[in-house]
Amino acid sequence: MTHERHLVVFSGAGLSADSGIATFRGVDGLWENHSIDEICNFETWERNRESVHRFYNARRVALATVEPNPMHRLLANWQTRFRTTLITQNIDDLLERAGATDVLHVHGFLTEMRCLACGSVWDIGTSAWDPSRDSCPTCGSRSKVKPNVVFFNEPAPAYQPMSEAFASLGRDDVLVVIGTDGAVVPIGSVAQQLRCHKVLNNLEPVPPEAFVPGMVSPRQFDRALFKPAAKAVSELDEIVTEWMAAWSGSGL
Ligand SMILES: [Zn+2]
Repeated sequence: MTHERHLVVFSGAGLSADSGIATFRGVDGLWENHSIDEICNFETWERNRESVHRFYNARRVALATVEPNPMHRLLANWQTRFRTTLITQNIDDLLERAGATDVLHVHGFLTEMRCLACGSVWDIGTSAWDPSRDSCPTCGSRSKVKPNVVFFNEPAPAYQPMSEAFASLGRDDVLVVIGTDGAVVPIGSVAQQLRCHKVLNNLEPVPPEAFVPGMVSPRQFDRALFKPAAKAVSELDEIVTEWMAAWSGSGL
C-alpha cells in the first residue's frame, strides 16, 4: 500500500525579490508611479495600449538582466526528488530558468503574448513588443494582442487547477508557501483549512494592523521562517525533505 506524498509549493513576489525583480506593490512597488487602471485593467487596456505595452516591455526586457536565486533552484530540485506541483503568482521565468517544468503561473507569463482575436499564445522571450508594427503570427491582429498576463477584471483560468491542487492535499502531504502575504490569492485561508504539513517562508509577519482575512499568519502553519527566501533555502529543504521522506521508512 503506497501513497506517494504530494508536495505543493505556492509562491509570490518574495521568491523573486532576491533576484532583483521589483515587487508590484509596496513602497518601491512598480505600480507606485502608474495607475493600475492604466496599466493592467482588462476593461480599459485597449484604450491604453501604448502605455500597457511600454510598461510590460520594460519588465520583460529587464528579465534578461536577472538570474534565478537559490530558492528557485531548490524548488526545481524538489521536482526531481518528489511528486511536486509548483504554483506561482509570479509572471517571471526564473523558475523555468532554474530548471523547473510545468509551473502553473496563475497570473500569466511575462515572456508570452496572447491574441484576444484568435486565442493564440506565443513566446517572445525577453524582447520588446512594438504595438504599432508587431502583429499576431496566426491571424495578423495588432490591436488585440496583449501580454499574456492576467489583468484586473480578466478571467484567471489557472485558478481552477490551483484550487484542485490545494484540495487534493491529504494529511501526509506538504504545502509550502513562499513570499506572499495572501492579499491577492487568500492562501492563509487555504492553509487554515488544510490538514497537511504546512510551512511558510516570508520576509516578515504581516503586521496586525494590515491583516485582513485570507492573509497568512504563523498560526495557520506548522513552521514559519521569517527571512529572505534565498536565506531560508537549507532550513526549508531540511523540513520538506523530512516530511516527504517520513512515509517511506515503514515496510522496508
Ligand atoms: Zn490572432
